[in-house]
Amino acid sequence: CGIIGVVKKASGSSISINCVEILRQGLKKLEYRGYDSAGIAVISQNSIVVIKDVGVVDKLFNSSELLSIEASVGIGHTRWATHGKPSKNNAHPHMDCSKRIAIAHNGIIENYIDLKNFLLANGHTFSSETDSEVIAHLIEHFKKSGMKTFNAFKKAVSMLRGSYAIVAIDADEPNKIFFARNVSPLIIGVGEEADFVSSDIAAFIRFANRVIVLNDGELGFISPNTVHIETLSGVVVDVYNRLKIVDS
Ligand code: GLU
Repeated sequence: CGIIGVVKKASGSSISINCVEILRQGLKKLEYRGYDSAGIAVISQNSIVVIKDVGVVDKLFNSSELLSIEASVGIGHTRWATHGKPSKNNAHPHMDCSKRIAIAHNGIIENYIDLKNFLLANGHTFSSETDSEVIAHLIEHFKKSGMKTFNAFKKAVSMLRGSYAIVAIDADEPNKIFFARNVSPLIIGVGEEADFVSSDIAAFIRFANRVIVLNDGELGFISPNTVHIETLSGVVVDVYNRLKIVDS
């Protein structure tokens, strides 16, 4: 239902606010859309930490331990269940088998049963009943076949049918967020100290007022100081031509 991702910039070491707190504030701004569960995944000390549960954002962030996690890359999600009941396991983010990849997804993957059967036949096991979890496993599957993460991500996205806004992180490429959009809205925010990707500008406007509204069939990645966007057919987008300033 709502998505946010944040990549702190290399020069942003002076940023006073931490990644988990940015995700918390972003998810709070997405609350008006309605949801049944919420969760975040951050990369900390080269592994992924996922915290998710049914219920409201404030319930998720009620431990001070959570807010003390050091991270510069993270994703967050508020879920409106379409496939699989509201539960902790079905809440996003979802991970692959190796626990190196985490994804959050808005929308519906219409061909997820076919994809799940393909992945089950290839030895994957699933932790949720959602349509979304196949995305993490597909990325893992193509990574295992020797692809770099972005190529594996592109290949995975090219197999999806339906509506999606996706954010993905990989502990093996710990400075990046990978993203893709079809039908479900997704917007990049370029800020001084961090870059963002979200389903709603409101989630990051406090930190970034230069935005790129993604079109259907666009995907890419954010790394510190770079935003890369291309189309599913591989045409690279001129990011600077697409930047718009939004009044905050
Ligand atoms: N179809 C996904 C699920 O049921 C995502 C729902 C959403 O957009 O929140 O988990």
